[in-house]
Amino acid sequence: MRSKLRIPPINLISLRSLNARMILAEQERWNYNGLEKGFEGELQFDLLTDKLQSDCIVLKGLLLEVGGSEFQIDTTVIFQGIIYLYDVKNYEGDYYYEDGKLYRIKGNIVKDPLSQLKRCESLFIKLLQELGFDVRVEASLVFINPEFTLMQAPCDYPIIYPTQVNRLIKKLDKVHSKLNKSHEWLAQQLISLHKPVSSNMKLPSYEFNKMEKGMICAVCLTLETEEDGQFIVCKKCGHREPVESAVLRHVRELQLLFPEMKITTVLVHKWCKVVKSKKRIRRILVKNCRSVGKTKVRYFLFE
Ligand SMILES: [Zn+2]
Repeated sequence: MRSKLRIPPINLISLRSLNARMILAEQERWNYNGLEKGFEGELQFDLLTDKLQSDCIVLKGLLLEVGGSEFQIDTTVIFQGIIYLYDVKNYEGDYYYEDGKLYRIKGNIVKDPLSQLKRCESLFIKLLQELGFDVRVEASLVFINPEFTLMQAPCDYPIIYPTQVNRLIKKLDKVHSKLNKSHEWLAQQLISLHKPVSSNMKLPSYEFNKMEKGMICAVCLTLETEEDGQFIVCKKCGHREPVESAVLRHVRELQLLFPEMKITTVLVHKWCKVVKSKKRIRRILVKNCRSVGKTKVRYFLFE
């Protein structure tokens, strides 16, 4: 089995920053928490697919487009004769199914994940046709959270329940498969077609001056950090990160949130706030970035 680490989608990375540095409106916070929870579920599923021994390629988190329609596949497993698509849901609590919709017993209607799945499957098949690849495709919903119950769903629906996930992995491990160059080619094509940013991405509005400055802990995502010698230390969770890597992580954050801003020592020093010495920031930038211009107007290009 071949696969790579799952990377958080760009809008989730941006929202993590915004959530740490400003107060999100209730709806925005709700959206953010939903994305975070969904991503956590996908990572849980990765822990299982990472153990696969059979000859397959696992692609994590594809955002694709065909004929102007965007669609997202959480996990794609390519075997010799079949491609499995999985949409992973981290729902928790009691739900019931009625007339093509999912209802939460205490709460509101959830968008029908099954019709989303069908849409995704047919768009994926269309894309395969465009690529000239003819192979069977099977899409399923995976409910990964052990606290999830769904009542009244027809039993022929393509749903994997929490109690069936381990059996699914065993089944995938028994698939007879011998991949060849054409499968590698297909995987490469799909990776190259992956869109880093969704065209539906909507972020809350934000301004540099109104955002809280400081360094965000890479683990607990709060601004509870301080400089301690060669490290940035989190007062909340105790995580320690070398100053250099923490500063570079925040340069990337600046570039993501404010692509039009020029990276200068003054800007990064202001943004990171907890690193007291401006010289220290400058040394890190000089070492890691290409600098443009002279002293006073110098800015840095960081790839
Ligand atoms: Zn922390």
